[in-house]
Amino acid sequence: MNQNRRSFLIKMGCMCCSPILLPSCTKVAITNRSQLSIYPESVINRNAFNAYQNIKKTSNLSSNNKQNTQLNTVGLKITKAVEKYFYEIKKPEVISNFNWEFILIEEDTLNAWCMPGGKIAFYTGILEITQNEDGMAAVMGHEIAHAVAKHSVERASQAALLNIGSTILDTALDGVLSSTTLDDYIVQLGLNLPYGRLQESEADYLGLIFMTLAGYNNQESIKVWERMEEANKGKEIPEFLSTHPTPGNRIKKIQQWIPEIDARYA
Ligand SMILES: [Zn+2]
Repeated sequence: MNQNRRSFLIKMGCMCCSPILLPSCTKVAITNRSQLSIYPESVINRNAFNAYQNIKKTSNLSSNNKQNTQLNTVGLKITKAVEKYFYEIKKPEVISNFNWEFILIEEDTLNAWCMPGGKIAFYTGILEITQNEDGMAAVMGHEIAHAVAKHSVERASQAALLNIGSTILDTALDGVLSSTTLDDYIVQLGLNLPYGRLQESEADYLGLIFMTLAGYNNQESIKVWERMEEANKGKEIPEFLSTHPTPGNRIKKIQQWIPEIDARYA
């Protein structure tokens, strides 16, 4: 990124949280972190729902009854607990645009995700790491947390901001203005960009809360990340973990959070 663009973005980033542009900044539920939100959630969700339909059509969905039952049990338990929680704290709007769905894809890869709006997928490969219902709840809680915290809206908004920056710079430099396909491009960035470290850590924290609300044993999350580390020893870091905190740091933080989370949410 060149210097002009960098300083422009820094300025825009600061303006985001100033009173002048307040509508472009929202707060993440529970953590209360200010996040950039200039891209509408409805557009991101619509794109995510379409992408999910395509994935369902083109993927090899598992027909393993036991595994599918486990996925649906954990998914329903956590999502019901999350819905109940936001209803009770009088913030049902946090997930009012959600339409939960769970699929298990037959593929030997260590991955799971939750698209904006609550469209979830697990790959059979990661079941070796989750091993049991509590383990699956740890991963599910983390993925659901990304969606509840609107991390994709935030990523798309950051990309949109970057584009506003480039467009203004292009104009200033007599460059060519960018085309209208930018909208699609930005949404794709929101859906496909890896999450940042801060978002990953936030998803760990919220994920622990969500699995705890659903009555799962949150200590299992430590074992899950230990198994994940073990499985990846000497291998290239899988995409799922590329921007995740290193397992050591992540486990340390989780251990610090658990007593507070147990006291408040168990
Ligand atoms: Zn994550």
